[in-house]
Amino acid sequence: MKYFLVIDEGTTSVRVISYSLEGKILAIKQKEYEQIYTKPGYVEQDINDIIKSLDRCVLETIKELGDDIISIGIANQRETTVLFTKDAKPIYNAISWQCRRTSSLCETLKQQGLEAKIKAKTGLKIDPYFSATKIYWLLHNVPHALDLANNGKLLFGTIDTYLMYYLSNGKIFKTDVTNASRTMLYNIYSKEWDKELCKLLDIPLSMLANVYPSKHLFGYTSCDSIFKKEIPIMGVAGDQQAALFGHLGINKGDTKITYGTGCFILTNMCEDYQNIDDSLITTLGVEYDNKTNYLAEGSVFYGGSLIKWIRDNLGLIKTAKESEACALAVKDNLGIYIVPAFTGLGAPYWSPEARGIICGLTAGANKNHIVRAALEAICYQVNDVLSLIAKNNKLNNVYVDGGAAVNDFLMQFQADISNMQIKRPNNIERTSLGIYYLLALAYGINICDLVKDDYNLIYPLMNKKERENLLDGYKKAVLKALNN
Ligand code: ADP
Repeated sequence: MKYFLVIDEGTTSVRVISYSLEGKILAIKQKEYEQIYTKPGYVEQDINDIIKSLDRCVLETIKELGDDIISIGIANQRETTVLFTKDAKPIYNAISWQCRRTSSLCETLKQQGLEAKIKAKTGLKIDPYFSATKIYWLLHNVPHALDLANNGKLLFGTIDTYLMYYLSNGKIFKTDVTNASRTMLYNIYSKEWDKELCKLLDIPLSMLANVYPSKHLFGYTSCDSIFKKEIPIMGVAGDQQAALFGHLGINKGDTKITYGTGCFILTNMCEDYQNIDDSLITTLGVEYDNKTNYLAEGSVFYGGSLIKWIRDNLGLIKTAKESEACALAVKDNLGIYIVPAFTGLGAPYWSPEARGIICGLTAGANKNHIVRAALEAICYQVNDVLSLIAKNNKLNNVYVDGGAAVNDFLMQFQADISNMQIKRPNNIERTSLGIYYLLALAYGINICDLVKDDYNLIYPLMNKKERENLLDGYKKAVLKALNN
């Protein structure tokens, strides 16, 4: 049987999803791996664990479906940084996108007045999240790393790059535009590594992979790899951009909201990057037809994890799913608001000092009101980001995915508070679907022939007055969190 094989390398697990030519899922294999917390705020991953998990998923897939693989594609957690020698040996654990170890370096860069310059070149805000300062940290903290780098013997990769290098036995040293745009070293307008930024952070250009469109013949797996034969790698993209493409969010204003641990909001601006509000970041979307797509991106730090917090830390619910029944058991939030500013507030407030609050408590309040307020808090935060995007642009289709998007109350409240229609797919497997679309396009399949409209439409039902009252209540709660 001929099939496409998609590797979805995420933060906590790797999944190998196999698609038929027509886009039907044939098999999903998944293996989890550990996150390594070495100190508060430090998050690493052992690359060998990732590779072992990938190899097992591939072997299980081949055992079940055979090895007639047409092509391979990769979606990956973004920004996570690995430095490795030319024989594919990592010199240290991968530093996770979540790791905050370079906060003080980022502060120094800001104090040097570099924020505007970096934004103008990379579309990003200076933040430990992006790869650049993680590379700097590794070069200056791992013995001999800087020497190896200066002698052209050390390579940097986001995980896509490392996986391709590993699978091709060192023949492919490449990345795609979506991943390059998350490094804080790539000029997203001239579409090249920025020499000035690399120099500023002591990063030799020889460490950086060549950058290609997301749909591209990146190269072939090696006969010595787990695949035991040469198979073309034809599609690569960062997971968030892949998911937007998986919804076929290819027109101006098409938006994707992922409700996972955090929430990621991406809107396709096509070529119109000038209209992206300055408090958001600009990033590159999947490139498949020689056109550059600029995306407006904003994120919410505490999304589904707020529900996990009220489950594990407050013990108000036993499962995340139960949150929906609790919220529906009461007719409103009884004036209670939660602002989960546990580590400060992001867009549009950008206050690292803000702290979380639960406010508006009265004697009639019970746990259901608090659970409801937690779900509502996710929607208010997403709404803040959507409002920034919608300030200068019209949102077109708004698609949702992620683990918490199954919650009907959450989706209805989002539609209500943002006063917009939401499209929720029956198949929430959007990240790997985006990569499948790239592989199918590269194979000559017209994906428009394949796409069936499998979306549930969620319409706004709340009246204007109620919406305004609620938004006003949330705004007052945010002021309290900011003044904490
Ligand atoms: P990630 O990919 O970021 O690990 P997922 O997309 O798997 O996350 O979503 C899991 C998150 O969503 C968890 O934080 C969990 O608390 C939350 N979640 C899962 N199911 C629900 C639900 N039915 N209602 C609300 N939140 C949920």
